[in-house]
Amino acid sequence: MAHKKILIIEDSDIQSRILERWVTKYGYLAVSAPSAGHARMIIAREKIDVVLLDWELPDGTGIELINEILSFSPSGWLPIIMVTSHTDSSQIKEAIEAGATDFIRKPADEVELLARIFSALRIKSLQDRLLESSHQDPLTSLYNRRYMSERIEQEFQRCKRHDRPIALAMIDIDFFKNVNDTYGHDVGDTVLRLLAKELKLQLRKSDIVSRYGGEEFVILLPETSLENAHLVLDKIRNQISKILIPTDKNASFSITFSGGIAGGRLSPEITPADALKIADKNLYEAKLSGRNQIVSKT
Ligand SMILES: [Mg+2]
Repeated sequence: MAHKKILIIEDSDIQSRILERWVTKYGYLAVSAPSAGHARMIIAREKIDVVLLDWELPDGTGIELINEILSFSPSGWLPIIMVTSHTDSSQIKEAIEAGATDFIRKPADEVELLARIFSALRIKSLQDRLLESSHQDPLTSLYNRRYMSERIEQEFQRCKRHDRPIALAMIDIDFFKNVNDTYGHDVGDTVLRLLAKELKLQLRKSDIVSRYGGEEFVILLPETSLENAHLVLDKIRNQISKILIPTDKNASFSITFSGGIAGGRLSPEITPADALKIADKNLYEAKLSGRNQIVSKT
């Protein structure tokens, strides 16, 4: 299991280093942010498991950050433990009401802090399981396979009823295993999130994007012909291949994906399973013919 990442938002260097030492000692990964601005950058970029949040920061208060932390998190929620010298119960109330999970007074006690982190992680793992079983993929915030399967059924019926075209695309990152093997799973996760973000950005609001498997995404494009879906996906494919993904060694790499598309105007007898099969077959062909391409044969 991957190490849990603890984000320490604390402007005092000494305090921050004490907290870092404690959490590292217990096998957690520590990431430190000395300001709210710095914390925002980290939250947007990294997958954090627990936040230790100081009340007073040079560029704002911890309370003001809580909402942002929560909304930036892929799951929409993160355990936040306020670490502060405020001892007023009304302030404890304020922090909890603002969305903090827990509260610990400065000077923090090592054992107590670790117990609270443990408790926060337990809540987070329950929360993650809940999310997984609902409709969202926690890593990318895209829809998950279960939800997508339901939507494909609905949209197929709707498009058949109104005699409208619909396209279904299946895309898969090329040589994704190499990314994980070479740069580690954190970078692999970054790649998945990056592709998810690009797909959301480039596609229309009415398109439905899902993470269907490990590095496989299924996209449903209602009211879209096979030709147009091909054009759109090809444009995204081209854009993705130009993005440089930084590694921690001051280097960068890029990724490509292959895609297969099915659909168009649906005959009454074609089922979602048939369309998925065709998309999958086209994807397979895209891979066989050298990857980094889209195939949309009928
Ligand atoms: Mg402070």
